[in-house]
Amino acid sequence: MKRVIVTGGAGFIGSAVVRMLAGEADVEVLNLDKLTYAGNLASLRAVENRPNYRFEQADIVDRAALDAIFASFRPDAVMHLAAESHVDRSITGSKDFIETNIVGTFTLLEAARTYWSGLPEADRQSFRFLHVSTDEVYGSLGETGLFKETTPYDPSSPYSASKAASDHLAMAWMRTYGLPVVISNCSNNYGPFHFPEKLIPLIVLNALEGRPLPVYGDGSNIRDWLFVEDHARALWTIVRSGRVGETYNVGGRNERSNLHVVETICDALDHLRPAATPRRDLITFVTDRPGHDHRYAIDATKLETELGWRAQETFETGIRRTIEWYLDNGWWWQPLRAGVYAGERLGLSKP
Ligand code: NAD
Repeated sequence: MKRVIVTGGAGFIGSAVVRMLAGEADVEVLNLDKLTYAGNLASLRAVENRPNYRFEQADIVDRAALDAIFASFRPDAVMHLAAESHVDRSITGSKDFIETNIVGTFTLLEAARTYWSGLPEADRQSFRFLHVSTDEVYGSLGETGLFKETTPYDPSSPYSASKAASDHLAMAWMRTYGLPVVISNCSNNYGPFHFPEKLIPLIVLNALEGRPLPVYGDGSNIRDWLFVEDHARALWTIVRSGRVGETYNVGGRNERSNLHVVETICDALDHLRPAATPRRDLITFVTDRPGHDHRYAIDATKLETELGWRAQETFETGIRRTIEWYLDNGWWWQPLRAGVYAGERLGLSKP
């Protein structure tokens, strides 16, 4: 039996991890989440009544709450996904990113270290703290090349700078205190239960509603897209088999320009839900994001060869599944569009 704390388990990727772990016979999973605007327990409806799942609402900057959870649940592993995650929001206001991503990660590392220090030797050896991060810490690529685990950090946005800081803290807690930390850096995710402020769900829903489809700059920026369930499997593989003190890059070799992504969604929706005019007519080029990185692309060779993980979805199969999921699951996204976030432009810097 493995007992796993997932922080941020009500978010997009965290909920995919929790749904996957709750389906494992020998795993108990505790979802530790503050429930910010991005946290949504509706994403866990499929598993909320399972006996091996439980939820604790807590803030990762709250040391007393963390200590109590560690003491009562007694985890074998922590998968740390809680974060402020939207680059555009970090441009408008970075305070929450510094608080949660840096101070929160520090507080969680300290709580984990205290708990881990009191374990018997064998449990100390097998304990794992997986710090989940992003390829955005590496900055921007030109037309060629791939991010490797050895690529120097060069973050551009307040979001990626805060994630870079938290990566350094996590690795320092391994080197200084011996806490068994592993780090993963992943490319852009997409899939079901994705909060509709991010490019793919925003475009799907705007296109369905016949609203303008905003594309930053000329749409030539390139991201390396990974289906969220492939990421969840990668994270679990790294917790079980990754080497302590190592970093693993996670990506599916699916580089696409933003404009290609948007056009693909338009064409798929025209096929699945025909409209009077082609959805490509809704594409609107808008002022670029400040500090917009041109290209991200991941070299996942280490994860593939060392741990045997492979992405199962191509961009074409994954985007199809994603669009069909949004068409079938209005119960999940309609309340978000009507309440927390209606699709307005975020992230234009203000003095
Ligand atoms: P998300 O914004 O969908 O979810 C974040 C979750 O963390 C939410 O449930 C939120 O309520 C919770 N949270 C925020 N602040 C908290 C706090 N102070 N205490 C406790 N819980 C808190 O994010 P996501 O897209 O699922 O990303 C998860 C992780 O993966 C993040 O660390 C992110 O940096 C990383 N990541 C994301 C991507 C991507 O494409 N989305 C790619 C690579 C890495």
